[in-house]
Amino acid sequence: MSPGKRIIICGGGAIGAATAYFLSRRGAEPIVIERHEVAGSASGKSGGFLALDWCRGSPLDRLARRSFALHAELADTLGNPWGYRRLDTYGGYAVENGEARGPGERPWLSEAVTLTGRLGSPQTTAIVEPRAFTKGLMAAAEKHGGALRHGTAVDLMRDKDGVRGVVLEDGEVVEGDAVVIAMGPWSILATRWLPLPAVYGYKGHSLIFRTGEAIAAEALFLEYQETSGEVLTPEIFPRADGTTWVCAVSSTEPLPVDPAQVSPDEGAHDRLEAMCRTISPALATAPITARQACFRPVTDDGLPLIGAVPGVDGAFVATGHSVWGMLNAPATGEAMAELILDGAAQHLDLRPFAPGRLRAFDPARLRRA
Ligand SMILES: Cc1cc2nc3c(=O)[nH]c(=O)nc-3n(C[C@H](O)[C@H](O)[C@H](O)COP(=O)(O)OP(=O)(O)OC[C@H]3O[C@@H](n4cnc5c(N)ncnc54)[C@H](O)[C@@H]3O)c2cc1C
Repeated sequence: MSPGKRIIICGGGAIGAATAYFLSRRGAEPIVIERHEVAGSASGKSGGFLALDWCRGSPLDRLARRSFALHAELADTLGNPWGYRRLDTYGGYAVENGEARGPGERPWLSEAVTLTGRLGSPQTTAIVEPRAFTKGLMAAAEKHGGALRHGTAVDLMRDKDGVRGVVLEDGEVVEGDAVVIAMGPWSILATRWLPLPAVYGYKGHSLIFRTGEAIAAEALFLEYQETSGEVLTPEIFPRADGTTWVCAVSSTEPLPVDPAQVSPDEGAHDRLEAMCRTISPALATAPITARQACFRPVTDDGLPLIGAVPGVDGAFVATGHSVWGMLNAPATGEAMAELILDGAAQHLDLRPFAPGRLRAFDPARLRRA
């Protein structure tokens, strides 16, 4: 397929926006269809933590390494409005004690926290503000000939040769030469239109604090034991914009059909706030600017689906990136652009991510749910 083609991308998360960006840089005309808002789901609420080599030994390793390099390039090329920065990363543990005490190993940590080792250096770990990153890639795609459409994809239009467009909820058809399903966990709904494997949503809760200069540029991965004995695994990421993002408390609550309807589990944010008060006097006093919940997309074997949908000409999928969707968005977008326009990815071997490796999900199970 040559440049100049119109490619319809369902979903304006990091994966859809990155795919649109790389297609637009190749002279194609990507059109992103977004039901709720660009970066309105996990791609705007996640940690935005990036690691060069944390996927070593797994089929994700090359994807992650290529993506880590592309993140630096993109920040450079596009002026870095998303606060990309390299940072140190540490691991440790903490035990709930009911109140903040301090100081501990760092002025901003309480003595409840023990750091046990360095997990990454500025050469191997970095961070972005995910909403600004996703919106920034979408804006860059629009600047290079891409377009954003607000609408809900409900079906595909086909002719005898394959997929030729996307049908929106209001009946309008957006025509194109190919379609990419990039609806994150909502990609499960596309099993009604295409033979695709299951994609599930796994929910996580997070808080954003306005911490200013109080917290050093160090990411933390902790194990935190609550008084009840339950263990949480908080991640604490200070960002370049003076905010600090903290997540923990996951759940298997069902995914609402409408992305705008995602809401937190009862008590989850209270638990997170109590934990933050224990581990950091700086967090205990900082204003909270957002209380969030979102779903990351996961597959049955833990690997993303990146490739052509078997047996359906013009249909592609890019989803299921689980905990590494922000890291792996750039290399996924680049590979999708190459696959769609050239027939094969140049920088990556996409075989481990081929959608046909897993059995297609039976959409009748959706209707029963
Ligand atoms: C708590 C948490 C922390 C995380 N931290 C990190 C991290 O530090 N680093 C990292 O690399 N990854 C992280 N992740 C993972 C990362 O956020 C996800 O893998 C990534 O955001 C998935 O992007 P996506 O574009 O596939 O999906 P999404 O961001 O879910 O985007 C899908 C889009 O599709 C739209 N949509 C849905 N249905 C339709 C429809 N019918 N028509 C049109 N549009 C539709 C939705 O509105 C949504 O905007 C984290 C995830 C969570 C939950």
